[in-house]
Amino acid sequence: MTEATQDNAAARLRDINGRMASAAQLARRESGTIELVAVSKTREASEIRPLLDAGHRAYGENRVQEAAAKWPALRAEYPDVRLHLIGQLQSNKADEAVALFDFIHSLDRPSLAVALGRAMRATGKLVPCFVQVNIGDEPQKGGCPVAELPALLGIAQAEGIPVMGLMCLPPADIEPAPFFALLAELAARHALGGLSMGMSDDFATAIMLGATHIRIGTALFGERRRAV
Ligand SMILES: *Cc1c(COP(=O)(O)O)cnc(C)c1O
Repeated sequence: MTEATQDNAAARLRDINGRMASAAQLARRESGTIELVAVSKTREASEIRPLLDAGHRAYGENRVQEAAAKWPALRAEYPDVRLHLIGQLQSNKADEAVALFDFIHSLDRPSLAVALGRAMRATGKLVPCFVQVNIGDEPQKGGCPVAELPALLGIAQAEGIPVMGLMCLPPADIEPAPFFALLAELAARHALGGLSMGMSDDFATAIMLGATHIRIGTALFGERRRAV
C-alpha cells in the first residue's frame, strides 16, 4: 500500500462525508444521524486498512464466507468495527451470519426469519435487521414483495428479531427517488425508524428522502475489479 493510495482512500472518505453533510443540511437533518456503511466486498484488507486508520468503523459485506475470511483478523486490531451484512443470505448460513455480523440488511423471506430467530435465541445475540423490500417488484431481484411485507414483519416479530427498518435496491437505470419515497412510506406505516437506501450514485437523493444508512462501495474504493 503506497502512501498515495492511502491518501486517496482517506480523501474519498472526506469527500463522501462532506457530500453527506450537504445533503443532510438541504433536508434539514442532522448528518450525524446517518450511517455511512463502507461496502468493502471484493476489497483486500490492505485496501480497507486506510479507512480504518482514518477512523471509519462501519463496513458492509455481501458474502458470509468472504467476511469470515477477512474480518476476524482486522477486528482483532480494530475491535469497535461494526459489520453489516448487505447481501442475500442462505438460511443454512444464519448461525454464521449472526455470529459474525452486527447488522443484517437482507432479511427477505419467512424461512430466513425463522432461521435467524433460531440462531439469535441459541446464541443470545440479538442482531438488528432490516427487511429488504423488492421495491420495484422486479421478478429477478431479491427482497420481500411489497404486498408480503406486513406478513414478514409479523413473522420476524414472532421470532423475536429486532427489526430496525427497511432496505432496498431500487431498479437500475431509472430515477430512484420514487422508490426511496415508497420505502420511507412503508417504514413509516410500520413505525420503523431505519432506512437502508442509497449507494454511490444516488446517496444524496436517498438522504433527502430519509435514509439512515447509506451503502457506498465504488465512490470510496474505486471501481470493483470483479462483478458480484
Ligand atoms: C455492492 C453493493 C452496494 C455498493 O454499491 P456501489 O455502487 O459500489 O456504491 C450497496 N448495496 C448493496 C446491497 C451492494 O451489494
